[in-house]
Amino acid sequence: MPHNGSAEAPARIHHSLCRDNAPYRIEVGGVLTASGLVRHKHVLTVLGNRRWLLRRGAAEPGGPPVLRRFPHAAAAPALADAHVHLHAGMRLADFVAYGVCQVRDLGSTAGTELAVPVARHCGDPVPEVVLGGPLLDRPGKPRLNIAARWNRHDELPAVLDAAIGRGASWIKLYAQFPVDLIGTVVRQAHARDLRVAVHPAPGDAPAAIRAGVDEIEHAACLAPRGDGVGGAHALHRRWAQRSDDSWPDVPAGVRLCPTLVVQHRLAEEASRSWSFPGADPGTAAFWRGMRLASRQWTDQELRNCRAASAEMASVVARLVRQGVHLVVGSDTPNPGVLPGRGLWEEMNLLVAAGLPPLEVYLAAAVTGSGLDAAGDEPVTLLPLASLASFEAEGRYPVEPAVATVLRGCLFVPDRLSNRHGDRDGNTLPAQPGTDAGVG
Ligand SMILES: [Zn+2]
Ligand SMILES: [Zn+2]
Repeated sequence: MPHNGSAEAPARIHHSLCRDNAPYRIEVGGVLTASGLVRHKHVLTVLGNRRWLLRRGAAEPGGPPVLRRFPHAAAAPALADAHVHLHAGMRLADFVAYGVCQVRDLGSTAGTELAVPVARHCGDPVPEVVLGGPLLDRPGKPRLNIAARWNRHDELPAVLDAAIGRGASWIKLYAQFPVDLIGTVVRQAHARDLRVAVHPAPGDAPAAIRAGVDEIEHAACLAPRGDGVGGAHALHRRWAQRSDDSWPDVPAGVRLCPTLVVQHRLAEEASRSWSFPGADPGTAAFWRGMRLASRQWTDQELRNCRAASAEMASVVARLVRQGVHLVVGSDTPNPGVLPGRGLWEEMNLLVAAGLPPLEVYLAAAVTGSGLDAAGDEPVTLLPLASLASFEAEGRYPVEPAVATVLRGCLFVPDRLSNRHGDRDGNTLPAQPGTDAGVG
């Protein structure tokens, strides 16, 4: 099954050094630690078995061979995209190309119709997958093919057991899951060591939080019930017309995955008549098949989406300052949201909204912290200038990583071809408008 995109042209990323050569050393020009970017030569010694050591200073003679020097790159913890929907055509190598080495699937057929993607050998650039099971939406015939079928509440334990059987560690409750059953399913899930994310219907987030869900998905879903909040355009209008801080009210400590990039990209792509410049034709057709992207938006709809984006961004920044726990995810593949790029765009939007860049980076990092002197997590090497610009101005140019150490092997994306556009539909040229921000 082509879960890593192998049915399409392979992504331009090279298995450049192998853990079979470990131990080996890589010299870099900087490091992202928990207290920020340190511009100083460091040496990363890859030991194999996923372990590595990091030392300040240039590579001294003796010891393992120095196989690469990246003086213009900084080593940083690799990133995790907390909200992805795996699908057969998704090019997982693109995540790794952008330094994203873990993805959390929150609703797909992975584990049933789709095999859960795994690296078949060390040179396979597939991120680690944290699996959510099926969506739990309303009872009866599912509206979505990624939702589980259930009819009565006493069938829910079996649905959870099936999710565990396919390898899930999370489940997601979707907008039409009955709100009065959330507490029950949360207890049943927790008893099975499953965590519960919820994509709430407008107005349902407070009840879901009281019922003990582990995470709320999408800032957009924090809108209150009422005045026609059915459908994306109505939801945008509701946010655009938000006039005071009476909503949303999210208690400190609640985990929130805002996915601001969804509305941001909708507005960008709607304003370009859904032409999706740079996307391969299959993906663009897939997006244009979605109802939201199947027709031209009116000027008012576009204005509402932009205003909603700006409101959501400022609300998220306020909530996080008040102690809400930020989770960073892209909701790839929403229209225009691409593997790897989407997470960086989300990070840029969060920073544009006023959150500290380092806090945003660390929230998106696989480990939730900067690099230490030793570890076993994946490490990405990012352009020093880009990381410095992100740290200082909160603007990352949304470009592939210089290289990434994943499971002891070094992967190097072909950055030149990314920069200069795409000759064979294989990589995506830089898109205009990614810096447009919403703040
Ligand atoms: Zn290898
Ligand atoms: Zn989603």
